[in-house]
Amino acid sequence: MNKLLVLLSIFLLINCSGDEPGLKFTEKGREVPSFNADSAYQFVQEQVDFGPRVPKTEAHREALQYFENKFKEYAGQNSVFIQRFEAEGYEETLELANVIAAFNTSATDRIMLSAHWDSRPRADMDSTRKEEGIVGADDGGSGVAVLLELARIFSENPPPIGVDIVLFDGEDYGKSGSLEKYFLGSRYWSNNPPVPGYSPRFGILLDMVGAENAQFPKERYSLSYAPNLVEEVWNIAGEKGYDNYFLNEEGAAVADDHMIVNEQAGIPIINVINHSRTEQGNAQFGAYWHTHSDNMDIISRATLQAVGDVMAELIYNRL
Ligand SMILES: [Zn+2]
Repeated sequence: MNKLLVLLSIFLLINCSGDEPGLKFTEKGREVPSFNADSAYQFVQEQVDFGPRVPKTEAHREALQYFENKFKEYAGQNSVFIQRFEAEGYEETLELANVIAAFNTSATDRIMLSAHWDSRPRADMDSTRKEEGIVGADDGGSGVAVLLELARIFSENPPPIGVDIVLFDGEDYGKSGSLEKYFLGSRYWSNNPPVPGYSPRFGILLDMVGAENAQFPKERYSLSYAPNLVEEVWNIAGEKGYDNYFLNEEGAAVADDHMIVNEQAGIPIINVINHSRTEQGNAQFGAYWHTHSDNMDIISRATLQAVGDVMAELIYNRL
């Protein structure tokens, strides 16, 4: 190899490593299939109809079977993987499962879309029935519903890039005060990757993306893990007139599955999550959060539409 070539390769190496490869976006002029908010709303309803999807319950088992069937219908029989595992809960052993569905499986260039499918086993922020599980229409249900609708769209319009949908179990199991028993599914998935060396361009986590008048300021861990992706997603939202949902301002740092996926699996990932930031800089959530009011009454088709439109534009026209 001559000197020029050596210099050139060194230059290319430096250039690539400093540039967040995979986190560059351009408008591609492609047609973007439409996201159906009625369908997404129905997917929230179907989850809520099972009741609280709490580990060790019949509703939890039924919901898992429902996701497996739905994704096999949309991704194909051989493109769905149920990652079953055990986790230690509070003086009980939990049987949990992450749901993984792959679209455009031959593509090596991939992205990851994620949500949590379990709902909280207690309504600790409610004034009554605190020990009963919640149906989690928004907290859990809405993110999964948007991903189910995207899966339906992928089945009819193959995405231009490989897409892996990962639904985590056991996100909301933990009691407030310690994060130790939260994020059980994403912890297991990160430590036991179904595909060794899995390294998608980026990930997007959707959590609480369906409430009426939801507000998504730029979550702070997301800004540190994948700032370019945050900019792109919020820019798309602004162009589409959704800046009343995707606020062009910095939010709080919210502990969620994306933290585990970034810190343990090394994947750049952002979280779209309905929250606000208190004067002290802490995360604050809607009045329905972790109460029995997190039901269909607070779910809005308009919010689901905004999130779905932004995701569809990103996936079909910016990558
Ligand atoms: Zn929660």
